[in-house]
Amino acid sequence: MSSCRSTGSISTGSRRSMISLGHLAGNVLLTEVAQRLQTAFVTDGGTIGVAGDAIVARLGGDEFAVVCAIGARDDARTIADHILDLVAQPVAYAGRRLTVGASLGVAIAPIDGGDADTLLKHADLALYRAKESGRGAFCFYEPVMDEKIERTRALTSDLHGAIARGELWLAFQPIFDLATHRILSCETLLRWDSPCHGSVSPAEFIPIAEQSGLIVEIGAWVLREACRHARDWPDTVRVAVNLSPIQLLSPGLAKVLKDALDASGLAPGRLDLEVTESVLLDDIDASLAALSAINRMAVGTTLDDFGTGYSSLGYLTKFPFQTLKIDRSFITALDDNPASMAIIQTVVDLAATLGMQTVAEGIETPTQLAQLRRTRCTAVQGFLLARPMSASQVANLLADETPRMRALS
Ligand code: C2E
Ligand code: CA
Ligand code: CA
Repeated sequence: MSSCRSTGSISTGSRRSMISLGHLAGNVLLTEVAQRLQTAFVTDGGTIGVAGDAIVARLGGDEFAVVCAIGARDDARTIADHILDLVAQPVAYAGRRLTVGASLGVAIAPIDGGDADTLLKHADLALYRAKESGRGAFCFYEPVMDEKIERTRALTSDLHGAIARGELWLAFQPIFDLATHRILSCETLLRWDSPCHGSVSPAEFIPIAEQSGLIVEIGAWVLREACRHARDWPDTVRVAVNLSPIQLLSPGLAKVLKDALDASGLAPGRLDLEVTESVLLDDIDASLAALSAINRMAVGTTLDDFGTGYSSLGYLTKFPFQTLKIDRSFITALDDNPASMAIIQTVVDLAATLGMQTVAEGIETPTQLAQLRRTRCTAVQGFLLARPMSASQVANLLADETPRMRALS
């Protein structure tokens, strides 16, 4: 490769600084970053391996683009490192030293595109990927990124109407009481069998449903269907439904819940809604209000995936949860990390002190189950005990629970 053009899209991540220090500080940061890029690429371009003229532009918000000629692909790596260093240098503002990070995506002509639009689009896809791996990273464009976006587009379009076409169905996974060995509850897990894409994992299509706003309609359908099935189970068995952050904060949630309960005749006390902790951070007051409203309807709330993300024990006292679900990663870690047992024990004890129940999810081995038994954990869920199953399978199981109880004996 003798000479090629490289386009870099840079996002400086200055928004947080703007929020905490005001727009003036944000403007100062953006101006300073722009000047540094201008000096490095236009005034002193040759010193950092740029061959010939370069263009520096602000694309909008906190995003910049640099277009420059390079001798070889490796030069782009050196230049990207240099840009990240440049942006990371502190900026003086009102007696403070402000710092920002940046993420960077790189597309190289002609291999990644022959015109400005394609190059910028591909640099932007690479930037998106870089952001996913955290601040301070850079990523080269790869054609697979296009494929991913194309698949997302196709899934989004096919997800519209999936309910009407009967492609969505509910699986239920039993949750067992550790003391009585009986089924305490069943978690509702959404399934999509698409004629075009086959069986699509909820880990892939739920985020797509959230991004497209479809989750509100799909989530309401899940609630209605879950309540309808659970009504026919024994009164002692509850049903848990996962609630996406968008649903939790949507103004229509109370009505959706009431409609699902009224239509099915399920007692509200038999329904639990699982929410992950990441939602709580986004808007603490709104989350608190929504959870309290759910509890006022006598519907239970569960903090799901506890221990992932920014988890803090402070949440346990702040938010009204009746159940805490310990994330599978702690259970998996039991196999080779003795500290994991101590963490689980601490969480279980604390939850018990606060009057909350605990569920350990993702139990796959008898050893893990034996270790959980030594804690005061209320309930267990996992492939060892029962896999997610169809509504008719769970109905059969509940009609004759005895054989399943042996798994826990
Ligand atoms: P989640 O809420 O953490 O659900 C538990 C996931 O762990 C399920 O994956 C379940 O099949 C899996 N699992 C259960 N036991 C074991 C085990 O022993 N080992 C392993 N390796 N996995 C186990 P699934 O069904 O693929 O669901 C993935 C995620 O998709 C769920 O994670 C939940 O966040 C989301 N999801 C599923 N259904 C719904 C829904 O109706 N609404 C919303 N908003 N999200 C849903
Ligand atoms: Ca869950
Ligand atoms: Ca979970």
